[in-house]
Amino acid sequence: MSVRVRFAPSPTGPLHIGGLRTALFNYLFAHKHKGTFILRIEDTDQSRYVPGAENYIIESLGWCHLQYDEGPLKGGPFSPYRQSERKTIYRQYADQLLQSGHAYIAFDTAEEIEALRKKAESEGRTFQYDISVRDKLKNSLSLGETETKKLIDSGTSYVIRFNVPPDEELIINDLIRGEIRFQTSVLDDKVLFKADGLPTYHLANVTDDYLMKITHVIRGEEWLPSLPLHVLLYRAFGWEKQMPQFAHLPLILKPSGQGKLSKRDGDKMGFPVFPLQWTDPETGEISSGYRESGYLPEAVVNMLAFLGWNPGGEQEIFSLDELAEAFSLDRVGKAGARFDPEKAKWYNQHYLRQKSNKELAEYFIPVLRQKGINPDPHTVEKITALVRERIIFPHDLWDQSFFFFIPPREYDPAVVKKVWKEDSARILNEIKDLLFRLDSFLPEEIEKAIKDYSEKTQTGLGKIMNPLRLVLVGGSYGPHLNEILSVLGKNETLARIDKGIAALKASIV
Ligand code: GLU
Repeated sequence: MSVRVRFAPSPTGPLHIGGLRTALFNYLFAHKHKGTFILRIEDTDQSRYVPGAENYIIESLGWCHLQYDEGPLKGGPFSPYRQSERKTIYRQYADQLLQSGHAYIAFDTAEEIEALRKKAESEGRTFQYDISVRDKLKNSLSLGETETKKLIDSGTSYVIRFNVPPDEELIINDLIRGEIRFQTSVLDDKVLFKADGLPTYHLANVTDDYLMKITHVIRGEEWLPSLPLHVLLYRAFGWEKQMPQFAHLPLILKPSGQGKLSKRDGDKMGFPVFPLQWTDPETGEISSGYRESGYLPEAVVNMLAFLGWNPGGEQEIFSLDELAEAFSLDRVGKAGARFDPEKAKWYNQHYLRQKSNKELAEYFIPVLRQKGINPDPHTVEKITALVRERIIFPHDLWDQSFFFFIPPREYDPAVVKKVWKEDSARILNEIKDLLFRLDSFLPEEIEKAIKDYSEKTQTGLGKIMNPLRLVLVGGSYGPHLNEILSVLGKNETLARIDKGIAALKASIV
């Protein structure tokens, strides 16, 4: 039987990186087993629907190259893949459970349930709609058939609840956690079908997994409490033989290791928790995204793969194809995986270094244009080659090389104080004359000329290079000085030296 897995997000907001990791593990598992990766949008909870969230999910998967084989927009043999478009499917399944006695109709209003909840709370208990109270509440089990029919016929709104079997121990095998035992006596009679005519997550999720012939359910640990109900549903429907295998992925923890990494944590802690930037449609609040923060999708994918999984061995760099090749659920751990923002940067630096100078320049040129700079692409390539080892994000290119494009407007006073000496102007004037006479202005030629001068005049290299760097870039930063001069070219170099000498003369008292 070929593997069929699904990523089944609810479009209730931007996709958290934990959700993206679930998608990734499903994708990897599918590819490893030459199976099918399905995207199913679980949007039956209308009260939690957020416009734009579905597009966001699809765009995030696309950005990470997690292409799905069946799903919205793409279609497939089990279309539609959006639960709101499958509305008419679910009622018959709820009816099937009503008929077999695995479900019942309940008329209690939301207010009544809330009052019971409050009362229990005030008595130090938690209210649960279950076997212990079923008889005393307003449902088809307590009211009987005639009364129930009467209420339905008179238009009383109702939900359909699952009839949890009493006092049973369920033993379920999870592919990551091994054997898990659940007592049915602690479960509540979850609502399967709501008064608004839509199924709840549980009914829609199980029915669709069955109908879509899902073989493995790989999802986050937060769904573990739903597992016994889902298994009971498979049993109640008589679908036990087709029941998928379950694998619940470990939580992603905050960098401190304390508690789950939440949607709110990211911007509070200074790193994104969403793949793409998200603007809340209601409040307009912006949450940062990996893409907009300058991360490459390869880096994000590689980093996420290692949150909870490891291939065993030293290798940390894996392409998506290599991950699929190496992936197995056996090597997914049970323990929460601590999120490390520094590791994310490390991966980004690695993948940026894989880019050619040309690719980096292609990224950089539009950034420069936005700043009103229209450089020659060849020069930009040369510049990226000089600073590429110093960048973690593409936008660092500007921070590391702005001085190539704009002459210093001021000179760092701390550096001036340290390197600008009484003889600096004289030395730089002599250097200027010597540079003027050079032919090629290649780094080697420049280096040799400065070295010769240093030897001939018995001037320490520091006394030449430090003030020279200061007048060229405005401080003490940047790549090799010869390279800077060579890229700037003779005219610009000489002009900056002149300007620097004029400006700094006054700093000697
Ligand atoms: N719709 C659920 C979610 O939002 C799906 C959970 C599952 O994979 O069963 O995560």
